[in-house]
Amino acid sequence: MTISIDGDAALPWHGQPYSIKRFGTSIDNCASEPVQTPGCIQTHGALLVVQPDDLLILQASENTEQVLGHPASALAGASLATVLGDDGANRVRSFLECNSTDCNPIYLFSHPARDADMLLDVSVHTIDGVAIVEFEETERAGKEAPDYLSRLKASVARLQQAASLQDLGDIAAAEVRALTGLDRVMVYQFHEDGHGEVVAESRRADLSPWLGLHYPAEDIPEPAREVFRQVWIRPLQQVGVPIAEMVPLAHPTTGKALTMTYCALRAPSAIYTEYLQNMGVTAGLTMSIRRGDKLWGLIAGHHYSGPARFPYGLRAACELLAQIVSLQHQSAEERGQLAYRLKLDEIQQQLITLAARQGDLAAMCDSTPNLLDAMDAGGVALFHCDRWWRIGETPSEPQLDALKGWLQTRPELMTPFRPVVASHCLGRDYAGGAGIGDVASGLLAISLSQRHSNLVIWFRPEMRGTIKWAGDPDEKPMVTGPHGARLTPRRSFEIFTASVQGQSSPWKAVEIDSAIRFRITLMELIVSRAEQLAELNADLAQSNEELDAFAYIASHDLKEPLRGIFKYVHQLGETGTLTDPSSRARLDGLKRLTLRMDSLLDSLLHFSRVGRVMLHFDDVSIDEVVAEALEMVDARRTEKASEVLIPRSLPNALCDRVRIREVFVNLLSNAFKYNDKPSAHIEIGYLAPHELARRAHWPQDTGTGPVYFVRDNGIGIRPRHFDQLFKMFKRLHGRDAFGGGTGAGLAIVKKLVERHGGQVWLDSEPDQGSTFYFSLPAGTATSHAPDT
Ligand code: ADP
Repeated sequence: MTISIDGDAALPWHGQPYSIKRFGTSIDNCASEPVQTPGCIQTHGALLVVQPDDLLILQASENTEQVLGHPASALAGASLATVLGDDGANRVRSFLECNSTDCNPIYLFSHPARDADMLLDVSVHTIDGVAIVEFEETERAGKEAPDYLSRLKASVARLQQAASLQDLGDIAAAEVRALTGLDRVMVYQFHEDGHGEVVAESRRADLSPWLGLHYPAEDIPEPAREVFRQVWIRPLQQVGVPIAEMVPLAHPTTGKALTMTYCALRAPSAIYTEYLQNMGVTAGLTMSIRRGDKLWGLIAGHHYSGPARFPYGLRAACELLAQIVSLQHQSAEERGQLAYRLKLDEIQQQLITLAARQGDLAAMCDSTPNLLDAMDAGGVALFHCDRWWRIGETPSEPQLDALKGWLQTRPELMTPFRPVVASHCLGRDYAGGAGIGDVASGLLAISLSQRHSNLVIWFRPEMRGTIKWAGDPDEKPMVTGPHGARLTPRRSFEIFTASVQGQSSPWKAVEIDSAIRFRITLMELIVSRAEQLAELNADLAQSNEELDAFAYIASHDLKEPLRGIFKYVHQLGETGTLTDPSSRARLDGLKRLTLRMDSLLDSLLHFSRVGRVMLHFDDVSIDEVVAEALEMVDARRTEKASEVLIPRSLPNALCDRVRIREVFVNLLSNAFKYNDKPSAHIEIGYLAPHELARRAHWPQDTGTGPVYFVRDNGIGIRPRHFDQLFKMFKRLHGRDAFGGGTGAGLAIVKKLVERHGGQVWLDSEPDQGSTFYFSLPAGTATSHAPDT
C-alpha cells in the first residue's frame, strides 16, 4: 500500500527545478521522486518565500491572487507588508528576530482572506536561509475554533491506560479519528524486513476492515520514510484538486529548489494522489510513530467523503498525540512483551513441574497445557528416548529425522549464549526445507543434551497460508490512473503475499529468549534426574555388594551342615537297617534333595563370587574365546546332531577372557539343551553398531562396541518370560526337564555382562528358537571379513 511519496533530491528536472505539476505524471518510480522539493503547493492556501532580513518576497505560489488578492507576478520583489500590511509584516519580523523557527513552522496570527468571510492562519518557518510564510484557510471569521487542547488532554489520559502495544495502537487510532473526524484511521507497523502491516484500525462502520493487511516494503519508498523521520505530520486537505506552482519555480538568485519538507501546504506527488484516488480517498492525514530516531510506523487517516480541514490547532494536537504515542511506545511494548513472556513462563513452569513429577520429558506432550502451548507455533516435535513425540502440524518422522541430522551440524545449537536455531525461512536455510514449507517454513529448535539426543523443535507454517485478506477480496480499485491497478491495497497485498512464499512469521526476540530459558530449566531437570539416578545406582551397587557378601557367607556356611546331613544319610543307607521299600525310597529322596540343595548352594556361591571377583580387562579375541567355549560344551554337543555356524570372524572386545568364556559357555549350553529339534542349529555372530536396527524391547543405548549373539533353533520362549529368565533360580521348566538345572546360568550371564558395562537381552519365538544378545566394550582389533 503506497502511503506517501517524498524525497529530498533537489536536482534539476530536464534542466529545470522539479515541479509536480509539470513532471509529476511522468514519474513511474516513487523512489526517485524529489518529494521534498515538489515546487508546488495545495491550493487551500498560499505560500510566500521571503528574505528573512528585509522580508522582500522571493517566490510566491501562483494562486496568491485567489487567496490573498495579489497576483504572484506582482509580488516578486515586493515587501511582505504588501500582503500583511505594516503591522503584520512587523509581527513577522520581530518574531523571526526573537525566535528560532528553523524547520519548525509556528502559527503567528490569523489574517483576513481575500474572501473576507474566511480567515487565514499565518505560520512561518525558516530553512536554507529563507523564510517561508504559509497562509492556510481556516475557520469562517467570527466562528469560534474548537477546543483542541481539552480534547487532546482527554486523549492523552486514555493513551496512558494502554496495557500493551496493541492497546496503544487501538487507542491512538480511535483518538485520532475522534479528533479529526476522518472516516478511517490506521496504525501501520514497519517490520524488520521493511514490509508493513495494519496493526490497528478505527473506521466508519460501513467501511470494510483493513486490519491485518500487509504490504511490501517498496510501497512506502525510502524517500517517504525519510520525510517521516523529519516531520511528525503530513496533511492532505483534498485529493485530486489542482495544485499551484511556485513563481518563480526556483530561488531567483541562487537557482536553488525550495525545500518544502516542513510546509503544511506541500503538494502530494502524482503517484500518491493516484493511489489515494484508486481507493476513493478524498483527504488524508499521516503522522509518524518513532522509536528514538527509528521510524517504527505511521498513523494514517483516510477520508472518503470530500475534503477535510486540518487547521493548525488540530494539526498541533495530532502532532502532539503522535509524539506521545512515540514516547509511550517503548513502555507499552515492554508491558505487552512482559505479559506475553509471563504467559509463556507460566506454561513452561507447569510443563517442567509435570515432567519432573513423572520423571519423563514426554509427559509434556500429552498434558494440558502441552509443549505446543509453550510457544506461538503451529506444531512441535520432541525427540527423546530415541523417538519422536509430535503435537499439531509437524513434518513426518522421516522428515524430522533428516531435519535432526541437519540441526546436529548447526554450530549455533551449542553456542554458550544463544543455543537455538531460529529460522523463518527454512527453505532457504535447509536443503530439505522446500518440501515441508506448508507446515514448517519456520523453525525454532533447542537441544537439551550434548549429543542432541533430546531436542525440542517448534514449527510455524508458511505465512501465506496464515494471512487473511482483511477486506472484501473482490474489492476493485475505484479509479485506475496511469499507473494502473498496481496502486491499490488489493494489489499490494497480492504482491506482498507472493513475496513471502516459503516464509513463516518471524520469531520474536521474546520467544527466542523464552525458548533459551526453557532449555536451561529442562537441562537442570535432566541433570538433577541423572544425579538422582546416579545416587540410586550407587545405593543399588552397595546393597548388591552386601547381598553378594551375604549370599557368599550363607551358602558357604550352609554347605558344612549339608555335608554332615549327606554323610549321615549315606551312612544310614549303608548300615542296611532300613529294609522296607517305603523307608528306602524316603532315604533316596532325602539323598536327592541334599544333592540338589548342594548344587543350589554351589550356584549361589558361584553367583556371589561373580559379583565380587576382580575382572582382568584385556583386548580379547572373541574368536578364540568362542572356540574354547565350544570345546567346553562339546560333551552336550555330541548328544545329538548339531551344526554350529560362525558366518564371520568376531571382533575383539575389551573384557575379562575367562568371564566372557563363561558367558558363551552358559549361552551355548542352553542353546543345545533347550532344543527339541532332530538337529540343533546354532549360530554365533555379532552386529556392529551401525547394523543395529533397534526394536521396541531392545535397550536404548548399547554403547559403541559390538553386540554378540548366540542363536538357536530350539524350543523358544514366550515374550512375557523375557524379563524373568535372568532372575536367580528362575526356570521355565520342571526341575528335571531338559536335563535339569538350577536356573542360575542366565543370572550369572547377566551379572558378568553388566560388570563389563554391557547389557544382555533376547529375541525369541516359541518353537522357532531364541537369540541371546549381549554388548561389550569394543576391543582394538576388529575383523569384519566373512569367514569362509
Ligand atoms: P538353567 O538352564 O539352569 O535352568 P538358566 O538361567 O540358564 O538356568 O536358564 C533359565 C531358564 O531359561 C531355563 O530354565 C529355560 O527355561 C530358559 N532358557 C534358557 N536358555 C534357553 C534357550 N536357549 N531356549 C529356550 N529356553 C531357554
